[in-house]
Amino acid sequence: MVQIAGYLKTSLIEWPGKIAAVIFVPGCNFRCPFCHNSDLSDPQKQPKLTFFEEGEIFADLKKRQKWVDAIVVTGGEPTLQPELAGFLKELKKMGFLTMIETNGSKPETITRLLKDGLIDFVAMDYKGNFDNYQNFINVKCQMSNVKSSMELILKSGIGCEFRTTVVPGLHNEKILIQMAGEIRSLIENCKLKIVNYRWVLQNFRPTNCLDLRFSELKPFTSGELKQSLKIVQKIIPTAEIRGD
Ligand code: SF4
Repeated sequence: MVQIAGYLKTSLIEWPGKIAAVIFVPGCNFRCPFCHNSDLSDPQKQPKLTFFEEGEIFADLKKRQKWVDAIVVTGGEPTLQPELAGFLKELKKMGFLTMIETNGSKPETITRLLKDGLIDFVAMDYKGNFDNYQNFINVKCQMSNVKSSMELILKSGIGCEFRTTVVPGLHNEKILIQMAGEIRSLIENCKLKIVNYRWVLQNFRPTNCLDLRFSELKPFTSGELKQSLKIVQKIIPTAEIRGD
């Protein structure tokens, strides 16, 4: 069974254009200091979480099938859940579109979900420039896994987006330009002519951060973010700002 630590019955923003229900799973293998879902990602806070039974969620979704288009599984990190595929299969049987939000550390799981047709959209975090990835996630991570996940998603042909939370002190214009170049190179290496993706820049929110020092940080102003967007759009025209 998938562990479920949160259930939002309706969201209009998680999957733009769709009415979605959102399932939150606990646990994450990254420790991004700016994470604002620290209740889910920090194991010390997890004993305080309230858990839901899968059956309870399926029963509720069944009742609301007519009004819900899609289910988004997020976290924490969904690909750490051993039973994720079975869970998504049930949702597909019920006729829902499905999406996962992932940090991209488990390309083997993403491969399986794509191969079995269990996901219709992937939102993957793209935290920072590849050379300094550890600065953004605060753990050692195999960069080859993150890059493989990005490539798999791009090549899959399903809708996808890369999401970057832009954090003062961690990101600046130079880093964002480098990141834009890295996406461009991946697309060129994959020899993809048409890809169905966008790059979403989200402003950092200083609330409930995993590293409390980040709660004191002042986010970029909307003007600063728009200025950065203008520059990276020259490299990635589908880049956009969300939520600010
Ligand atoms: S931001 Fe995402 S990847 Fe980072 S710790 Fe939080 S849940 Fe994990």
